[in-house]
Amino acid sequence: METIPNWINGRAVDSNTDRKGDVFNPATGEVQKRVPLSTVAEVDQAIASAEKASESWRHASLATRTRILFAFRELVNKHKDEIAKQLTLEHGKVFSDAQGEVQRGLEVVEFACGLSQLLKGEISENVSTEVDSYSMRQPVGVVAGITPFNFPAMVPMWMYPLAIACGNTFVLKPSERDPSVTNLTAELLAKAGLPEGVFNVVHGDKVAVDRLLEHPAIGAVSFVGSTPIAKYIYETGTKNGKRVQALGGAKNHMIVLPDADMDLAADAAVGAGYGSAGERCMAISVLVTVGNAADKLLPKMMERIAALKVGNGLDPSSQMGPLITRQHRDKVAGYVASGQKDGADVLVDGRTLKVAGRDNGFFLGPSLLDKVKPGMACYDDEIFGPVLGVTRTDTFDQALALIHANPYANGTAIFTNDGGAARKFQHEIQVGMVGINVPIPVPMAYYSFGGWKQSLFGDLHIYGPDGIRFYTRNKVVIGRWPDPRFRGVDLGFPQNK
Ligand code: NAD
Repeated sequence: METIPNWINGRAVDSNTDRKGDVFNPATGEVQKRVPLSTVAEVDQAIASAEKASESWRHASLATRTRILFAFRELVNKHKDEIAKQLTLEHGKVFSDAQGEVQRGLEVVEFACGLSQLLKGEISENVSTEVDSYSMRQPVGVVAGITPFNFPAMVPMWMYPLAIACGNTFVLKPSERDPSVTNLTAELLAKAGLPEGVFNVVHGDKVAVDRLLEHPAIGAVSFVGSTPIAKYIYETGTKNGKRVQALGGAKNHMIVLPDADMDLAADAAVGAGYGSAGERCMAISVLVTVGNAADKLLPKMMERIAALKVGNGLDPSSQMGPLITRQHRDKVAGYVASGQKDGADVLVDGRTLKVAGRDNGFFLGPSLLDKVKPGMACYDDEIFGPVLGVTRTDTFDQALALIHANPYANGTAIFTNDGGAARKFQHEIQVGMVGINVPIPVPMAYYSFGGWKQSLFGDLHIYGPDGIRFYTRNKVVIGRWPDPRFRGVDLGFPQNK
């Protein structure tokens, strides 16, 4: 069986580790490849290659970097369907969703193509007589990225295009669950003309991650994954003197007020709750209905859920694919059982789903649980699957209080036709990404993406303007060209004249 190689110094390199993981096809349940769980020595090799490449890449002209990124943009666009298919085969999400993922990643590449505008500094003339001061942003050096399984193409693209555009070299440790797509993009970067060693991939698990966190040559770490690991990455990386941004998990609430357009809200809730089988960090997992909104909304949602087609992601009629592993599928199904036991009403039970001819696939149908409350595991935990809970409240203020009491604060949405309520929501809500009649408010590439509270550890959000700040260090120069009029020893504190 094929073992996926690492990508070091511009070429595929077979790992010599004995430790390997299985890469499944979630739609069939079969192991299709093996992924190496790389050794410390292999991580060191990738870092050494990035360090060496950094010596010249940091001096590469803006024009050179821009051309390579434009060429990469063209290549990703050309191979979009191939990347998406690879993604469906290992992640399970339906092909159209995989295409959407690649497209959203590509938008960050397009943003990075504007690096010559983005990296402009500032200048102040005559800060003192005949003295100018200016600032510039310079690369951090060698940067590491550690990414989750749920967006194996897009989330790495939130990181490396900008890091490379800023003059850094990169070592990526992708998810070990669906790693192939990363090697495909590494090949495209090489084809685009990226010099050897600027982009490296080491596959692996905690062993590889820990080495990246402690290696003195790594200057910054971008992480996206679950909250406990994000916290660990932030604490360990910063303790080792690194700049760290660590994006964590989520429990995204969508408020539906009684005046909302209920057809729009039902379409949005079903799409955002069950798209990608709920395995999105911006998935809606709690519907917070106010007043009698639930009575109007839930029948419309149940109609739509009944019509959903769950199946193999490569079948064009499928709208929702399987979950990532059997273990995860069983864990998610366990939340439906615990919710029922804790007093929730199971309006739709996804555990009964059978996909014809796919008995071994990791499928679970969409579930809808009503009367879910804080204190129940199905409310408190991030489920990361196709289970949508409904929490009923009497007032808008109670709905807001629920969101504020939650430790996560990644995304949230409100559905209403009341502009005043929407304005209050956008102003007061303590969450990083907010949708108004938009269920999945993922910022465009030219804004930045990030949650608050336990959904992000660090100061800066990812990609967009914050990405440029994260991957660069600011330098300020104060310069004077010697002029005989200003000679002479002066021990006084320099004053602006
Ligand atoms: P995960 O935290 O299990 O894994 C993420 C990465 O960390 C992987 O590369 C993995 O190999 C590594 N890792 C896992 N355990 C580790 C350990 N003990 N020590 C060091 N490294 C370790 O996350 P996942 O299951 O791959 O992805 C799903 C999670 O990611 C969900 O919680 C989801 O909300 C979150 N997510 C968040 C965002 C966001 O932008 N906030 C985006 C996508 C996914």
